Amino acid sequence: MGSAMNESKASGHSTCPLCHGPTSQKFARRGSGQLTADSFSSRKTVENHHPDYRECALCQVLVAVEQIDPLQLNELYRSATFTSADESRFAARTYSRVLEREIKNASSILDIGSSDGAFLTQCRKLGVNALLGIEPSAAAAAVATENTWVGPFAQYSGEGEWDLITLFMTIEHLQDPEDFLQWAKKRLAPGGLLAVAHHDYRAPVNLVLGARSPILDIEHLRIYSKTSMKKTFEDSRIRSHKTGDVRKCLSVGLLWPPHV
Ligand SMILES: [Zn+2]
Repeated sequence: MGSAMNESKASGHSTCPLCHGPTSQKFARRGSGQLTADSFSSRKTVENHHPDYRECALCQVLVAVEQIDPLQLNELYRSATFTSADESRFAARTYSRVLEREIKNASSILDIGSSDGAFLTQCRKLGVNALLGIEPSAAAAAVATENTWVGPFAQYSGEGEWDLITLFMTIEHLQDPEDFLQWAKKRLAPGGLLAVAHHDYRAPVNLVLGARSPILDIEHLRIYSKTSMKKTFEDSRIRSHKTGDVRKCLSVGLLWPPHV
């Protein structure tokens, strides 16, 4: 599979998508930008390439300069391999512990980027039976343990009012995160909650790793900090219920890139 980078849009994010102010070069492109079937699989082993990132120091957000054609991006995710069942289970346990109270208070849960359904299975163990995953990768959905709709969230036409909508380590992959937040707001039940877990490029571990951080990834189109995530929620008129750090059970291979 060749490069999906659309050079004609190479200057697409010279301004900040949040404040529309200026950005400056932060991390120069690494690697060839050549994409493989593994490049867009969830929780893959670390690859050694990422796009050019620019930073808005005011909002504290990184934006990938190169844009990928949306149809091609959908196809890359649809055909992505699934190689991460163990990581998926570890992450599901972590998120279900952090959100245990919210899960137990919910009657229905929608998980976006649900992979093999591991998080929803944890929710079922906590007593929730109305569960749905939305997963763009056919390979991950094929081994899903829970009810899963296959495709990009924007193509899901189902309505429904969900008590809890979850998006774990997925907002970085979206071309239009603001569109997703509006989409999710329309599908929340009154009093419903949206839980978003995201990478934080300002977290100490990532500041130490700098250009070697594995969160600099060909898949990540926008990388947030706590500051920029808060601003994104405020701009989308979503009231913050609670925030906190999640200590993920990352494998050593995922945290420390082999190519440093
Ligand atoms: Zn900004």
